[in-house]
Amino acid sequence: MNNLKLLTPGPLTTTNTVKAEMLYDRCTWDQDYKVITQKIRSQLLELAGASMHEYAAVLMQGSGTFVVESVLQTAITNEDKALIITNGAYGERIVKIAQYMGLHFSEYRVDYHQYPKEADIRTILEEDPAITHMIMVHCETTTGILNPVDMVAKLSKDFGKTLIIDAMSSFGGVEMDIPSLGIDYLISSANKCIQGVPGFGFVIAKLEELLGCGGNSRSLSLDLYDQWREMNRDGKWRYTSPTHVVAAFSKALDELMAEGGVSARYTRYRKNNQILRERLERLGIHAYISEEKQSPIITTFLFPNESFDFGDFYAYVKERGFVLYPGKLTDVDTFRIGNIGEIYEEDILALCNIVEEYMGVMVK
Ligand SMILES: *Cc1c(COP(=O)(O)O)cnc(C)c1O
Repeated sequence: MNNLKLLTPGPLTTTNTVKAEMLYDRCTWDQDYKVITQKIRSQLLELAGASMHEYAAVLMQGSGTFVVESVLQTAITNEDKALIITNGAYGERIVKIAQYMGLHFSEYRVDYHQYPKEADIRTILEEDPAITHMIMVHCETTTGILNPVDMVAKLSKDFGKTLIIDAMSSFGGVEMDIPSLGIDYLISSANKCIQGVPGFGFVIAKLEELLGCGGNSRSLSLDLYDQWREMNRDGKWRYTSPTHVVAAFSKALDELMAEGGVSARYTRYRKNNQILRERLERLGIHAYISEEKQSPIITTFLFPNESFDFGDFYAYVKERGFVLYPGKLTDVDTFRIGNIGEIYEEDILALCNIVEEYMGVMVK
């Protein structure tokens, strides 16, 4: 089988050494395995700049969405009210979870290419004291916009709200000091910037908050508090855990540390992204998000002209070894290119040459 490079924001291209960890079978209740879980939990806190006295890392089976749902289940009661800030499909997915659960919430929605506005949020918080929780996506993977987490974190502190951040596609690739931001729940998953394979996600939760959440969840399997209690004893997961995925993730964390941690990974991703944006711009393929709002993770590009056929372009690029991502916007024709994972400058340069070749072929 041809080993394609995935320019998608998860699952993404992983190293062979990460994949090799999955060649062994492990027992969920065995001491050696529980040690791996505990090691992962402490490494995640280290990446977050958080101390074990103030925060806990809790791992949860499922894709990222399951973990978002577990936080909403566990942290928000029927007496609470959430303010969900959205500018993309992942924010809207949080709204959908809240609707399924019958949570009290209001949505503050801005256009996909815009930042939420501080003055607007302030007004909402002043006018609606019933709000207890604020929720926002950090990197909106829909467009690639990197939302102003500092501004929102400061507002949540000023108004004394519990802050939940979906940092699924940014944690491990963008530096974030979780304690100084005062984030109460940060959510991410195995198969994004930490460069593991899919199968579970994790939450970095402020203990002060989490400790008060016993009995809140209306879902047993998604009860983050119960999961934390069990896991906190000695590293045992509740119910079957994705053992192969967990072992691969442990390796991926070691490789992230060996690369030089989050700042080194950020530098690599940023460079990849800059080259990509610049080269495609020269070919008349413009990015949807302006440069100062662009994350180093994924870029949404507008179709270069009327006759551009994404299916044809996708097949052309795939034949040459790279997998792209379709767009997720409804009002304009776009496609997306992720630049995270085991992807280096030479890969991006190779891709840009393929795109250039394709554009040349198309013009003729
Ligand atoms: C990937 C991602 C998710 C989770 O998606 P799953 O398909 O459930 O893993 C949630 N939020 C954001 C911002 C994401 O990028």
